[in-house]
Amino acid sequence: MNYNAPHRHATIELSQAAVVHNLKVIKANAHAKEIMAVLKANAFSHGLPEMAALSVKAGATRFGMAMLDEALALRDLGYTEPIDVLGLTDPTYVRLAAERNITLAFSTKKSLLTAAKQLSGTNLSLKVSLPVDTGLNRIGFKNHDDLVAAIKVVSAEKTLIFQSLWTHFATADTPNVDYVDFQVSEWQRLTYNLPAKPNETHFANTGIATWYPEKINTDIVRLGIGLFGINGSDPTMPMPFELIPVLSLKVEVVNSKPIKAGEAVGYGVTFRAPQDGYLITMPIGHSDGYPFNASGMRVLMADGQVGHIAGGVAMDQSMAFVENPVPVGMMVTLIGSVGDETITMEELADYTQCNIVPLMNDFSPRLQRIIVP
Ligand SMILES: *Cc1c(COP(=O)(O)O)cnc(C)c1O
Repeated sequence: MNYNAPHRHATIELSQAAVVHNLKVIKANAHAKEIMAVLKANAFSHGLPEMAALSVKAGATRFGMAMLDEALALRDLGYTEPIDVLGLTDPTYVRLAAERNITLAFSTKKSLLTAAKQLSGTNLSLKVSLPVDTGLNRIGFKNHDDLVAAIKVVSAEKTLIFQSLWTHFATADTPNVDYVDFQVSEWQRLTYNLPAKPNETHFANTGIATWYPEKINTDIVRLGIGLFGINGSDPTMPMPFELIPVLSLKVEVVNSKPIKAGEAVGYGVTFRAPQDGYLITMPIGHSDGYPFNASGMRVLMADGQVGHIAGGVAMDQSMAFVENPVPVGMMVTLIGSVGDETITMEELADYTQCNIVPLMNDFSPRLQRIIVP
């Protein structure tokens, strides 16, 4: 079953101008040489094929993905740029990565030995990245001797190429500068006097590139959330420059009818029309990533009216109350701008009391994606 829904009018618009702007301002702020577009999880649910195309057009020279399958999906789309898998991969699958020039991360000497074994007797070689765990405590080498031993394996194995050494920060998008400093000092301690040098190192995510670019080398930025124009740390960490949200969410009215003051709407009849008016039905629900508990949230009609979600959002459909009649087929903007009115993802997250990061990552493949200038 293919979960695209090209015959339903519920669409994510992705702004090319926004991607270009976000990449440019973050790259300039960090004085970065290269942007690795981190497009994991279907490009933060925005849509991998579209965001890969937009990122490359905007100047990204490489990609970061969470897992081997996502990297293979990008290769299947035809991209030949370097791809880093940023999570760990079962080393018995390394041939798939080596065949398609995908860089894999390893956290133990044992997994490197297993990887080398898969490639022995082939003419394949694998680019290897070694994450250093400086304090996130997720993956990577936490101990200098283990790192040295791993690098010796990579150097000794003809099939393995020592591509990169890198780390990831735990508080780059928070005011906790002390922990950033701690991780920098851990990096220096753990990578002091190693037996071989990698081809490259990389450290910066959006947070480092935005708030702490002076703390560490930012030649290569692994750019995730900022590319999409979202400040995941709002309001604790105001942006030092403006980002533009890439995503707008738009649907067309599928049903429209008058409703009388006091009439109930939706499952559980939790909403009653506040006055005589009109009720529209929209082809979008919480299975599409629009929040379940958005009753009362603003929606923007193409004719300039502002409607409000009426009752609980159902799985595939939702209703909104408007004062004046609306024809079937009228565009409704759930995230984005109509005239002077804007609904941001931040506003929707605040309204539904959910964190913006899971909200931005949860749009369903059922929504059509289109690129707008
Ligand atoms: C997800 C991820 C990124 C991107 O981080 P953002 O904060 O979204 O920019 C960078 N590096 C690694 C290792 C990641 O897992």
